[in-house]
Amino acid sequence: MKEKNQIEETVEALEKKQLSRKKFLKLAGLGTAALAISALPKKARADDGKKGLAKYRFAMVIDLRRCVGCHSCSIACKVENNVPLNLERDDRKIFWNEVSFKEEGNYPYVRKKITNRPCMHCEHPPCVNVCPTGASFKNDDGVVLVDYDVCIGCRYCAVACPYGARYFNWSKPTWYSKTREQALNPDVQKRVKGIVEKCVFCIHRIEKAIQQADRQRRGLEDKDLVNLPACVQTCMGRARFFGDLNDPDSTVSKLARSGRAFRLLEELGTEPNVIYLKEA
Ligand code: SF4
Ligand code: SF4
Repeated sequence: MKEKNQIEETVEALEKKQLSRKKFLKLAGLGTAALAISALPKKARADDGKKGLAKYRFAMVIDLRRCVGCHSCSIACKVENNVPLNLERDDRKIFWNEVSFKEEGNYPYVRKKITNRPCMHCEHPPCVNVCPTGASFKNDDGVVLVDYDVCIGCRYCAVACPYGARYFNWSKPTWYSKTREQALNPDVQKRVKGIVEKCVFCIHRIEKAIQQADRQRRGLEDKDLVNLPACVQTCMGRARFFGDLNDPDSTVSKLARSGRAFRLLEELGTEPNVIYLKEA
């Protein structure tokens, strides 16, 4: 009975969004046997102070024909989002946006295949479904986010994500130098050791664009969005586009209707909001 009360207290605190990660762990530790972690509620936060977002479905299009594999997008993402270096082990590096290469064919007819992989911001995200605390959630606008203060670092989401888009902070985040650390982006929350992080489509930039459009008493337009995330803005090959799939006339909607358009692992039914354009 005592354990039931602790679970109820945990659930109630989560619902009020007042539960710190530390307190959750403390409560969970008190009643581990009875705490059916997957039974905890997941909050719908589409309206958590972000009025107006529901009318959009944000998406990214990546044209593989135009990508030259320069890594500008990865570096811009790291700088914009305060992504730590964590260089102590190769398999523990964090890349919200990963550019990788694969050689295809046999000498002398070889070519390099380039893959870009941000978070897919799946319409049906397995990572959200398995998160026991509600730390992972999807806004109505299609952006999948992590509440770092609620994440307990169980890594269920990292296991569930079929795209390898989630990263666990195995160590205290580090940056190149003290100078770099002092120049971190104040708009983006720093993460800590023991939690999971991933691409958030530069949500801080989206929110600023929405606020600006609100001040002008209008909705977001294609021109506000097409270059919005840092990776898109910096792409030297003009291979990336961002926008609203709910607007049939947006650049991303038009590109998504191309005969070259496809989504990664479509057969899984995750319905990614990142759409690729085939090279040929
Ligand atoms: Fe979640 Fe992975 Fe889909 Fe991103 S790509 S929304 S982390 S399942
Ligand atoms: Fe949720 Fe992932 Fe954090 Fe676990 S590690 S609480 S599944 S966001």
